[in-house]
Amino acid sequence: MSQGDPGNGAAAPVTSLTDPLDDGDRAPAAADGPTEKCGVVGVSLTDRAAARPLYYSLYALQHRGQDSAGIATHDGFQQHSHVGMGLVGDAFDGTDLDGLAGSAGIGHVRYPTAGGVNARCAQPFSVSFKSGALALAHNGNLVNADDIRDELASSGHAFTSRGDTEVIAHDLARNLIEADLIRAVKRTMDRVHGSYSLTVMHDDTVLGVRDPLGNRPLCIGKLEDGYVLASESAAIDTLDGDLVRDVRPGELVVLESDGSGFESYQLFEEEHTARCFFEHVYFARPDSVIDDTLVYEARRDLGRALWEESGVDSDVVMPVPDSGRAFASGYADAAAEDGAEVEFAEGLMKNRYVGRTFIMPTQDERERAVRLKLNPIRSTVEGRTVTLIDDSIVRGTTSTQLVELLRDAGAAEVHVRIGAPAIVAPCYMGIDMATREELIAAGRPVEEIRDDIAADSLSYLSVDAVADALASSRADLCLGCVTGEYPYDIDGETADRDVSRPAVGEPPPADD
Ligand code: SF4
Repeated sequence: MSQGDPGNGAAAPVTSLTDPLDDGDRAPAAADGPTEKCGVVGVSLTDRAAARPLYYSLYALQHRGQDSAGIATHDGFQQHSHVGMGLVGDAFDGTDLDGLAGSAGIGHVRYPTAGGVNARCAQPFSVSFKSGALALAHNGNLVNADDIRDELASSGHAFTSRGDTEVIAHDLARNLIEADLIRAVKRTMDRVHGSYSLTVMHDDTVLGVRDPLGNRPLCIGKLEDGYVLASESAAIDTLDGDLVRDVRPGELVVLESDGSGFESYQLFEEEHTARCFFEHVYFARPDSVIDDTLVYEARRDLGRALWEESGVDSDVVMPVPDSGRAFASGYADAAAEDGAEVEFAEGLMKNRYVGRTFIMPTQDERERAVRLKLNPIRSTVEGRTVTLIDDSIVRGTTSTQLVELLRDAGAAEVHVRIGAPAIVAPCYMGIDMATREELIAAGRPVEEIRDDIAADSLSYLSVDAVADALASSRADLCLGCVTGEYPYDIDGETADRDVSRPAVGEPPPADD
């Protein structure tokens, strides 16, 4: 879907410019594990078109969302945008990129949770209003979006989706009518609560915002001819740039529109952060640096801690590919340093051509899916005791099938070690985890789970070991899905801190 100039003279209330085209809701394809919701990027360059650098960086962030992709640019006069369904390579062709003029822009890849998959929810989300054109890309999930949407709707704002990104865009557009950019962003941050890393484009000014608790990642990079904001540093590497630093929790970063630098505004400073520890365990690319920690090294450290906490003598240690690889390598190294005679081997081969779209119409076929995806190397397994390492167990289906697969291949014993604590509760901050009822570990002792997956032994990593490996205190991490206590005020759930916040209401006066 392509859009031309929104025009800058529209009167408030804000008019949505996102094309009302609706492909019709379809449910998100079932995923094997937790699924990241989105990746965001923004660039401001000296005189080069932003479209291709944005396109390449979206490719680098493809693992964060596969259901839609989009880019919005601004050429100093008007905004241009293109969003499409599917992978980045499906959503764009060369002509689409040629139509995205301007040296400033933002981009987005999306994986939807509630609300299904349709073009209305694809981002960047664009609005026009009397102070200009706005485009917004969001990673995270607000916990009070419904309250703000209701209030904005009652004052005349027309919404085209149930998405929380549209709520942020409308609130920010309303504030921009009355205040300058910095104050407008601060007012919106005062009102929206939950998890958000945003890239925003107001006319040709690109900015990045990280929520006051820093739940989702966002970093700044320097290019030869400009600056980039991205969910992960791997996107900066793809553009041959240098990572400058992470955007701080509660910080607004405004890129100079000539690509010469950036301004920083620390709009909120909380006593503690609530960084999602699962970014390091599962979601982020191993080659990304998040909050000063290389994800690959964090996973190896988690694997080492796993050996120290619950190492078991076995003939061979093998990862579940690809997610368990760095954990298993750290585990095996720590075991070897302790003098354990254990071989590290790739005992499961992955078929890379079985994607999420593979059609499995019957339950029996679904249960056999793992055999299509993974095949054991019999000579590595037969007659031997095996330790299988993975990063998480969500529903337990895959673990059960893998244990069975290894036993069928002749394994004498199968011990399962998980490089994170047990997932016992859902995520409300933008991760498609599963419902509490679907989680195999919700409210159940480890021994019962071991019995379910038919392993000879099963151990998870402790929460304290996760905090140590991430060089963080527990108080600075979100651990909601493994403790059931959340850093935000969520109906029906327990908070892990004081999360009292002002009720939604009219924004503060213009001179705040
Ligand atoms: S609940 Fe879990 S997955 Fe969700 S933000 Fe917190 S740590 Fe991350």
